[in-house]
Parts: sequence; structure tokens; C-alpha cells
Amino acid sequence: MTDSEKLNAALTELQAFLGERATAAPMHRMAYSRDWSPRFKDMVDLPDIVVVPHNTDEVVQIVQVALKYELPVIPFAGGTGMGGGVVAWKGGIMIETKGMNKVLEIDPDNMSVTVQAGITIWELNEHLAPYGLWLPHQPESKRACTVGASIGVDNDSTFGVRYGKILDCLTNVVVVTGRGEAVRMGHRKASFSSTGYNLMHLFVAGEGTLGVVTEATLRVVTLPKTRQVRGWVFPTLIDGARALERTLASGLSVESAHLNCRQRLHFYTHAYRQKYGREPEVPDWAESILFLSFAGDEDVVEFSLGKARQVIENEYKGELVREQEIVEGYWDSKHRLAFLPFKQKWPDSQREKKFGSADVGVPMGRLEEMYHAFLEISAKYEQQILGMTVYNESPNKVSPSISFAIFVDDSTEERVRNFFGYVREMSLKAVELEGTMSTYIGDGDRLGGFNAYEHGLSYEYMKDVKALFDPKNIMNPGKKFESRWIAPQGT
Ligand SMILES: Cc1cc2nc3c(=O)[nH]c(=O)nc-3n(C[C@H](O)[C@H](O)[C@H](O)COP(=O)(O)OP(=O)(O)OC[C@H]3O[C@@H](n4cnc5c(N)ncnc54)[C@H](O)[C@@H]3O)c2cc1C
Repeated sequence: MTDSEKLNAALTELQAFLGERATAAPMHRMAYSRDWSPRFKDMVDLPDIVVVPHNTDEVVQIVQVALKYELPVIPFAGGTGMGGGVVAWKGGIMIETKGMNKVLEIDPDNMSVTVQAGITIWELNEHLAPYGLWLPHQPESKRACTVGASIGVDNDSTFGVRYGKILDCLTNVVVVTGRGEAVRMGHRKASFSSTGYNLMHLFVAGEGTLGVVTEATLRVVTLPKTRQVRGWVFPTLIDGARALERTLASGLSVESAHLNCRQRLHFYTHAYRQKYGREPEVPDWAESILFLSFAGDEDVVEFSLGKARQVIENEYKGELVREQEIVEGYWDSKHRLAFLPFKQKWPDSQREKKFGSADVGVPMGRLEEMYHAFLEISAKYEQQILGMTVYNESPNKVSPSISFAIFVDDSTEERVRNFFGYVREMSLKAVELEGTMSTYIGDGDRLGGFNAYEHGLSYEYMKDVKALFDPKNIMNPGKKFESRWIAPQGT
């Protein structure tokens, strides 16, 4: 059978049970040709077929057809991924997962919710709000990003320093593996389990390379009654990090903690100047800004703010940002897909350049070194810096997940390749500094070829895990084990 005969036969079989929800029409395929990762303008990767299943059984049937004709299967969610995780550069069947967006059970007694994995985090929280509950795993892209994709890439959450990431919420998943079977994994609604192996964990950051997550059960928490957000500037970067460490050590429950470098601080002050036409009173010596939020009952939040100010301002030379509008501008950027400051004309509108990031992780003691490497490497590759933000993603710990953000010029292939050269060098540096190449974007089509370098012998076990769940290598091929953009030579 030729490739086109295979595709025609597969489409006919898919349409037999999906009807118009299986299509090879170019217009539909075009809508699934890329994500938010930098690509040069005329670069288009079309999947061969797009399908829109409504439940797990339909996904099982789709994967069985894919197995029969040995066609790639790629799960697509909000398409906001920044590493090319959904890009079908080997063709195949694109599964639009947002057709699976039902809430299957809300169980307030057990603070638990079971959903189909294509629901967005935003929609889920709208369902939970009448019960006074919410899912605290909140990436900034929550209006578009689904529960399945949060599991798929193990993305960051604004509130990670209090609640952790998606794995801290997850109690079980249903996955359609590359063997064409639906398998439930996890520990029902229990918080933990020490029986068997924790197979569910393999699907967190699995990027659809082992299977498609179709359902998930998550622990939820009570909506806080009130929240206060403040910002402090510091004379050095490390002062900001140490002030956070000390605030956590004091026993306070911090809800979110984001440390930004000087360039990123200027981004916020510039937005303030543009919007209000006034000069903010932020001192010139400020090298970093730490934003913290506290949430809960009003008296506890008031006390927490007072105690935090005492620690940060008395012990760490932190100065409270007087213009609360700067803090509100920052907070707004965490909750709206349209990030207001990006649209303003400094240093360039986002319409002219694209947002790109090296999302490495290093231990806190290596933060300064990584930051200086960022300045050097971005200059070497002629990248325009947006700045560094350090998110903290483990409950009650300084736990850097870092965005080294760049305005990417995507007007030519050469310039996009230059950006990936920057990502390559930043990734290698992070491993050298006892860290990891990625903390929230995932391998995508960028980093897979470097995994032997980061993971050593355990990379061989990863290959065996892949073969166990996906013996015919049909699940999102070209990710985790290959790099399309950057060659691993010299690693
Ligand atoms: C404005 C903006 C703000 C952002 N803010 C954040 C942030 O705060 N924190 C952060 O970490 N990231 C952030 N990102 C990056 C991005 O939103 C996240 O990485 C997010 O997880 C991608 O979700 P998505 O639904 O768009 O997934 P997609 O891009 O559609 O898919 C991402 C990956 O998950 C896989 N996948 C999708 N669904 C499934 C499934 N059901 N089963 C298995 N695999 C699946 C895909 O195959 C792909 O590999 C932001 C991006 C933008 C554009």
C-alpha cells in the first residue's frame, strides 16, 4: 500500500464512526499546523487527518486505526505550547482533544473532580466556583490550556509555591496508550499510594508520546476569601531569592512568588509609564523585583503581609513598590492571555516579534551564574532580551522554574535558527549547573536529542518505557528522542 492509499483507507475507517468529525480538508489541517513556538513565517507542518473525538472509546478506535496503518497520532489541546509539542512534522492523525470537555463528577465531600481531559482549566474552574472550590493549578494560559495538556507538559502554575503543579492535584488518569487500550492509572481518589508502580507519573510531561490522556481526577481546594499582592525591589538578584527563602522559613504560607530580573522590572515600569504618564518611584539601584501574594481569611492575610514586610524590608533591604498599579499590571498579566505590556511599544510590539523562552531549571545557589550566562548567550546569538522570571513551583520551597525570555525575530529561517542556538546553549549550561533543560515547556521538537546528555543511562530506560506503551512508535513521534531544530553534536 502506498502512503496515500494508507491515508485514504484510514480516513474512510475513521469517518465510519466519526462522520464529519474526521477530515482531511486542507482548511482544517491548516488550523493545526503550529503552536506558539517560534517558526519562520512560511513554515507549515500539516497533519494528514484531523479528528474530533468526544470520549475515550472513540480515542481507542482512532488509535487502533492508526496502529493498523502505522500513522502518527498527535494530541492537540489549546495550541499555546511554546516548544512545538503539537507540531505534526511527521504527518499523521491530529486528535483535537477539546471535543472531550465534560465534567464527569464534582465530589465536594472528597474535594475532588473528574473531567474529560480536553476541558480548559478556565472552564473547569467555572464549573467548580458554585461549590466554592477551584483547581489551584493555574498556568497563565488557562483560558486556552486544557487539563490534558497540563498533564502532557507538566506546565507551571501561578500558585505553585503553595499548591505545587498538576501532579500535586492528580489522583488518577485514563490514558489511551499506543497499544490502543484505555488504561486507568493512579490511586482513585486517595492522595497517595505506595502499591505497584506510579505509572500515572510517566504521563506527566509525557507530551502524548506514550498515550492520550482522556480523563483525569483532580483534588481541588476551597476558593480563598481574599487575596493581597505586593512587590518589593532589591539591590541584588540573590537578595530577592534569599528574602523569599527566609519568608517561607518564617512559617508564612505564600500563595505565589515570582522573582524578576532588572530587565523584566523595567518592562513593568515602562508599562506603568506608558499607561499613567508618570515616572514611578522605583529606585535606580533595583536589580530585582519579587512579587508575592497571600490568600485566605482577611485577618490571616493582613498578618501575613505585616510579617512578610518585617522580614523582607528589615532583614533583606527590600523596598516595597509604592505604585500598586505596577503590581496590578503584573498580576493582570498572569490572568489574561493577552498580556497587556506585550502589546505596548517597548522594545517592540509583539506583532513584530514573537515571545520565546529558554525554560531551564537550576538550584537556587546557581541562579546568579545562570542569569549571567543568559546575558552572555543572548548577546552571542543577538537575541533581544525580555528578561528573567523565576517561578517557584514546589509547595513552601524556593524551587526555581525559570523563564529566560526573548523577543524572537521570526522573519527568516536563519533568525529562528539563531533563537534555537540560544536555547541549545542555555540548555547545556543549565545541565552543567546541576539543573535541567526544561521546567515547563517540555522537549517538544527542540530538546529530545539532548536527553541522553541530561539523563545519562536512565535515557536507555526511557526508550524501553516508550517501547512498552507505544510499540509501533506512533504516539507523537519526533518528540522526546529527537531534536528537529538543534543538533546535539558537541554535547
Ligand atoms: C500567553 C501564554 C501564557 C503562557 N503561560 C504559561 C504559564 O504560566 N505556565 C506554563 O507552564 N506555560 C505557559 N505557557 C505555555 C503553554 O500555555 C503551556 O505549555 C500549556 O501547557 C500548553 O497547553 P495547551 O492546551 O495549549 O497545549 P498544546 O500546545 O495544545 O499541547 C501541549 C503538549 O501537550 C500534549 N497534549 C495535549 N493534550 C494532551 C492529552 N490529552 N494527552 C496527552 N498529551 C496531550 C500535546 O501533544 C503537546 O505535546 C503560556 C503560553 C502562552 C501563549
